[in-house]
Amino acid sequence: MHSSAVNIAGHTSTAPERTFDVAVVGAGVVGCAIARSFAIRGWRTVVVEKEADILEGASKGNSALLHTGFDEPPLSHELVMIKAGYSIYRRIHGRMNLPLVETRALVVAWDREDLGKLDGIAAHSRANGVEASRMEQTGLRRREPNLSDGALGAVEIPGEAVIDPWSAPLGYIRQALLHGAELLLGAAVTGLSRGASLWRIETSKGSLAARLVVNAAGLFGDRVEALAGRRPRFTVRPRKGQFVVYDKPAHDLVNAIILRVPTERTKGILLTRTVFGNLLLGPTADDQDDRIHAPCEEAVLRRIIAEGEAMLPALTGQAITATFAGLRPATEHRDYVLVTDAARGWITIGGIRSTGLSASLGLGEWAAEQGGMLLGEARRAPADDDLDWPQMPAISQAAPRPYQQPSRSPIVCHCEWVTEQEIREALDGPVPAGTAGGLKRRTRTGMGRCQGFGCSGAIARLAPDLAAVRLEPAA
Ligand SMILES: Cc1cc2nc3c(=O)[nH]c(=O)nc-3n(C[C@H](O)[C@H](O)[C@H](O)COP(=O)(O)OP(=O)(O)OC[C@H]3O[C@@H](n4cnc5c(N)ncnc54)[C@H](O)[C@@H]3O)c2cc1C
Repeated sequence: MHSSAVNIAGHTSTAPERTFDVAVVGAGVVGCAIARSFAIRGWRTVVVEKEADILEGASKGNSALLHTGFDEPPLSHELVMIKAGYSIYRRIHGRMNLPLVETRALVVAWDREDLGKLDGIAAHSRANGVEASRMEQTGLRRREPNLSDGALGAVEIPGEAVIDPWSAPLGYIRQALLHGAELLLGAAVTGLSRGASLWRIETSKGSLAARLVVNAAGLFGDRVEALAGRRPRFTVRPRKGQFVVYDKPAHDLVNAIILRVPTERTKGILLTRTVFGNLLLGPTADDQDDRIHAPCEEAVLRRIIAEGEAMLPALTGQAITATFAGLRPATEHRDYVLVTDAARGWITIGGIRSTGLSASLGLGEWAAEQGGMLLGEARRAPADDDLDWPQMPAISQAAPRPYQQPSRSPIVCHCEWVTEQEIREALDGPVPAGTAGGLKRRTRTGMGRCQGFGCSGAIARLAPDLAAVRLEPAA
């Protein structure tokens, strides 16, 4: 195993002759998990990310659910990867100090047609190896007394849970770094050419070489395929999902994740607690061409708020903390696009649309197992006890927070109770916040009810470079 020395090359240029076993393109949740799986096996690994921080693409905003795969198509890559990712997360989250809130989920029927589908949903779930049971209206009322009378029955999925969508991938990349990986930030891959046995990777920060490339470029996955001169197997069609975040008093209005009976196109609007003590409503599912910008639309938000209030009348009048939208890297395919090319030393992890947070650790293991064979040596992951584990800061409600300690440093963000020490650690830590959004995701500062009105002055003093970047809304 490598020492715990950490290599960050984000602010330097890369010497042309540097050669790695594997280069992962993209530091979304999927790229971070893939880097972890390669690095813990001892492969010389580099992650190349175009933005100034990790999680600036699709992984920036999602529902934060740890899915079981209960409703995925049988035999799909997506089901296999979700199930693998789910069980690895459950196994390792405690070692990294990552939260897991075991809320369970209820797929609720709101009309007779939905009601008729519940037995099928439960049977499908069990066929996928996921525990599920029918709940009649009386039981549902007892479990979720605040749902409207329109809730006619449900299927309960006990394994569905809620996690922190930002600390988890940060933990994965930090573990990769502890095992010798490097992270190049602000380094857009601009060219890819294959020599006899190596890829030459041109980036906006210089070039490097790698025996194997893993394309985990999310919303730009098809563009990275094209850069490498590969036959296009998919085209990304971003699918926007808009959310409403309710303030902390709304958190206890539901117990479980409240799902709708899914349609062909979408899993529909859901209601869920967040690990940060809010209540989340959304997301929508609308195709768009823009791969970067995801503005919220007032009419759409009003529609989902009305839908939320119809399901949960007590939502009416609850304060809204924020609205935000995320982009799913959807493609023309229903399933993930997973391709290995042994001849050219290439792995495609494409179209990881609406379940990548749950599937990422499974995708990482799959990529590292396939990659080992492509690199000529199938290496097993060391036992968990033999790995180095980063300790992630306690920013969720699941554990005591630094502000609760008697000797805490001054509080900077009074809505989310973030201390100055936490901000400093996020700015100076092993993967320092590279954007204002990244600082928010690491600490919760600016994420509370005032959305940064109260803390932005202090943040400007502590992080003048980041504060110059617009503070964007997020959950
Ligand atoms: C509304 C919504 C709700 C969701 N809810 C859930 C949920 O509850 N549970 C769940 O499991 N999943 C959920 N998801 C899905 C999950 O968020 C995605 O599957 C996941 O974030 C995809 O991650 P990724 O790493 O593949 O892509 P990305 O996060 O887009 O990462 C790709 C990275 O590649 C970088 N990149 C691109 N091109 C280049 C280049 N040329 N050079 C260098 N870097 C490059 C990008 O900057 C980016 O950082 C949801 C998604 C959305 C949008």
